[in-house]
Amino acid sequence: MPAHTYDVIVLGTGAAGLTAALRAAAAGMEVGLFEKAEKVGGTSAWSGGTVWLPNNRHETALGFDDSREQVITYLDSLSHGLMERPLIEAYADTAPEVAAWLEDNSPVEFEILRGMSDYHPEHPGGKREGRSLECTLFPYAELGEWADRVTVGWQLTGQITMSESSLGRKAPDGVPAAELARRRIRDERGAGQALVGRLLKGCLDRGVHPQTGCRGVRLLCEGGRVSGVVIDGPDGPFEAHALGGVVLATGGFEHDAELVRTFLRGPLDRAVSVPTNTGDALRMAMRIGADLRDMREAWWVATIDVDVPGHGVVPWQVNSERTRPHSIMVNDDGLRFTNEAANYNALGNAFHVVDVFRFAYVNHPAWLLLDHHFLTSYGLAGHRPPAPTPDWLIEAPTIRELAERLGMPADALETTVQRWDRNAVEARDPDFHRGESHHDRAWGDPAFGHTPQATIGPLDTPPFYAIRVRCGALGTKGGPRTDTDARVLDVDGAVIDGLYAAGNAMGSIMGMTYGGHGGTLGPGLVFGYLAGRHAAAVAAASRTMA
Ligand SMILES: Cc1cc2nc3c(=O)[nH]c(=O)nc-3n(C[C@H](O)[C@H](O)[C@H](O)COP(=O)(O)OP(=O)(O)OC[C@H]3O[C@@H](n4cnc5c(N)ncnc54)[C@H](O)[C@@H]3O)c2cc1C
Repeated sequence: MPAHTYDVIVLGTGAAGLTAALRAAAAGMEVGLFEKAEKVGGTSAWSGGTVWLPNNRHETALGFDDSREQVITYLDSLSHGLMERPLIEAYADTAPEVAAWLEDNSPVEFEILRGMSDYHPEHPGGKREGRSLECTLFPYAELGEWADRVTVGWQLTGQITMSESSLGRKAPDGVPAAELARRRIRDERGAGQALVGRLLKGCLDRGVHPQTGCRGVRLLCEGGRVSGVVIDGPDGPFEAHALGGVVLATGGFEHDAELVRTFLRGPLDRAVSVPTNTGDALRMAMRIGADLRDMREAWWVATIDVDVPGHGVVPWQVNSERTRPHSIMVNDDGLRFTNEAANYNALGNAFHVVDVFRFAYVNHPAWLLLDHHFLTSYGLAGHRPPAPTPDWLIEAPTIRELAERLGMPADALETTVQRWDRNAVEARDPDFHRGESHHDRAWGDPAFGHTPQATIGPLDTPPFYAIRVRCGALGTKGGPRTDTDARVLDVDGAVIDGLYAAGNAMGSIMGMTYGGHGGTLGPGLVFGYLAGRHAAAVAAASRTMA
């Protein structure tokens, strides 16, 4: 089998893998960067590109109060015993360094996603603003032939930054057409496209050229350490050897039905990540005795199935659509069951509730209900009246008829909506506390500022609409357990020399939590950085000894 030796090998070209490759290359290492798909960027390129890097220097510059201690206090308050203190401390220590290092050593350029809070801002140490960063627009013209080799998603195409989306509110009336036309000249992209574009440019500038269509399949071990990996490439299998180590950054296992069934704590009906995330790293690491962490968890997100022109029926993340006023969620009994405006990851817990008498997931799948006022004001997944109601949306002239169409008890649904409407007059939700958290209001209708009305409004304008809501995931969280340098540990707690993990391929440090906007990419960048730095140091030491 043909073979090549690198200093450091990285598998996967999402944000975690690119950061690991960039960090190792900046230390002067020759990096082999391999990607299973034909295009690079992974789910990171489809994402909002927001990174939760608390206590960063942009906060300091704007005078926001933050500190290592507050970050740790906040995460501790969300741990439920699932987070490991040394890893949380490593994260709090390294996140500010990573934000600064990337800006000082690569084309990465961050700014704060203004007005957006942590996902549990009322918890001790929680913040209303500052910890979530996103990249400024990046001209893909600078990527040359690589511009067309970055994958683009269906939900976020990267024409604008998240600050300019309905979330960030920097452009309340939308980005003007003239500005969009100007951006097209050099193909300037925001969100995940900007993050991946900037990291990729940093890698290319340092001589790291990703090799696509190359799937890591089996780790090579020699002398008690991981010495390389077998790659299935376009011309057949070959061996890639590494002096410093192999970094697993291949995303989660959400697209492997068997792994999902084996490990996750409840239903995951729709994965919204790239389809190549099938748990390859997990299988490779398990095969050589790696310990595992956080296997039951995923970055949960509610989804609806919609028909997107050019893409067919896709799982659409339903976020601001369920947090804006004039919409609620109910279960098949016609009952509300949660705070619909809660953060999407926390919502996963509500979908996973089991009624022990019926022995059924009583809230899953659920229904999203909207009235006509909602649809005309905000639209849903690209649809807005007066366009004819699409096939994927159920419509009825009254709540009773809607219940009949959905096959649920009509009296129960009428009672639910009447109670919601009565409380909505006073903009309160005594049942599930919707609108009480700063988070809920920040995701609501900006026209109402940070008031409960931003998320609470009656369903009183016919016709009424419904669509199935299913528990999905941005990716799974489970994977090999690591130490604070992202080194994989074996089942006895010993370091497996030469093996690292980062991003969703790594057993997450976050337990069941999502810290704030960018809560998955933030840890991905931090542990990618730690992995790249450590593997580079090992390779340098090995070169010196040779
Ligand atoms: C629409 C959308 C918006 C989102 N917005 C945000 C956000 O703003 N902030 C945030 O924090 N998170 C967000 N997320 C989630 C976030 O995108 C992911 O959690 C994150 O990208 C995972 O990064 P990663 O580097 O671990 O994996 P990925 O970016 O998925 O990259 C993994 C790569 O590894 C490759 N691979 C798989 N197996 C192999 C193998 N055997 N060998 C070689 N390569 C392999 C895959 O093809 C893929 O390219 C969003 C997700 C979506 C879908």
